[in-house]
Amino acid sequence: MKGEPSITVNNFTAVQLMELDACVRCGECVEWCPTYDAAGKPAGLAPRDKILRWSKYMNKSYGLRARLFGPKAIPEEEIEEFKNDVYGCTTCAMCATVCEMAINTVELWESMRSNLVKRGNGPYGKQGMFVKLIGEYKNPYMEDPKNRLNWIPDDVKIADKADIVYFGGCTAELKQTKLAFATARVLNKLGIEFAMLGEDEVCCCSALVRTGQYEIEDIARKAARQNVDGMVAKGAKTVVYACAGCFRASLVDWPRLLGEELPFKVMHITEFLEGLIKEGKLQWEKPFDNLTVTYHDPCHLGRHVGVFEPPRSVINAIPGLNLKEMDRIKAHQRCCGAGGGVKAGLPDLALKIAETRVQDALAKSPDILSSACPFCKRNLSDGRDSVGAKELVVEDIIVLTAEALGIRLDDCVEG
Ligand code: SF4
Ligand code: SF4
Repeated sequence: MKGEPSITVNNFTAVQLMELDACVRCGECVEWCPTYDAAGKPAGLAPRDKILRWSKYMNKSYGLRARLFGPKAIPEEEIEEFKNDVYGCTTCAMCATVCEMAINTVELWESMRSNLVKRGNGPYGKQGMFVKLIGEYKNPYMEDPKNRLNWIPDDVKIADKADIVYFGGCTAELKQTKLAFATARVLNKLGIEFAMLGEDEVCCCSALVRTGQYEIEDIARKAARQNVDGMVAKGAKTVVYACAGCFRASLVDWPRLLGEELPFKVMHITEFLEGLIKEGKLQWEKPFDNLTVTYHDPCHLGRHVGVFEPPRSVINAIPGLNLKEMDRIKAHQRCCGAGGGVKAGLPDLALKIAETRVQDALAKSPDILSSACPFCKRNLSDGRDSVGAKELVVEDIIVLTAEALGIRLDDCVEG
């Protein structure tokens, strides 16, 4: 009697099944992969190797020989080893960018992860906590949802309903509150009326999607539903984000989870500011003192959704800041190391990648290393500390914008 296949094909699309066969083994992705490089080039972490191994598993389970004589079993240890390798990836999309066959590798990795989660192998280490934390607390930091409002200083005006809704995100509202301070005060200063979801906001669930856990208990879809419905109830015509991860989740993951287009426009705060700058609406009150700044493109903002120019436009508009680009930027930027659950699951690997990215920055001798995502900021700050570059300021563009507009942020105490 024929046995059962060791793996399933259930969550792979027809295109993805063809992509598994499309790899021509050129190795271009291997040359560019930041985790493969930072981990000392173990064969298992090479993107090409992961595709070839999964393809082999598919053949053993569903190929011609499997159909004639029954599937060939894949040893459990081999699948466990594969699981470790497929989670050693920041989902940075560098491999997808350079792939000669235009294989959407990131979505392949996410499908493999989801498959392994359903099989009982994934996720990796502490990433398994995301489901319980987001399911129970609606954020990954084990904070009471009411605490989402704690950061709001007395002077910040948040409307009950408005055309613009600011989606703060768990990290800015509960940890790196300077980002929320700066965003809210910049919007206030520019006379932009905005609303927020407050304690009804739910995690964007980027971490669940990236680690293949988005189908568990339907948490990610329910979260997207609550956030979208909440924004509509607030009157949203445009929703702005200062976190690249939340922005990517809203733009790409929520419509997919919900099976519908979003009923409002979504913009990263740098896109929103770029428009206002072009209209001449920003009056700079405190120019910087001729500082050199370099900019790190967050993977989720740049390669994932193509927002490359607006952050640069904002930096270039701020008086006293001189943008000096790193050698690897935009589509070929080097990942900071925090994404794809790597910061939670493999923190040492995340730090090593961050150190390399900080070295990329230091090669240009900047005063400030800027980014447009709290995760990049945190991991690059860790990398900066680890390489001992204490003089290098790591800061978000919206904070630099606030400072140049003369907005005080010294009353912000981060959690
Ligand atoms: S997405 Fe990035 S980290 Fe993951 S395999 Fe591709 S290049 Fe490597
Ligand atoms: S770049 Fe694309 S085609 Fe080349 S080895 Fe990597 S996945 Fe295969």
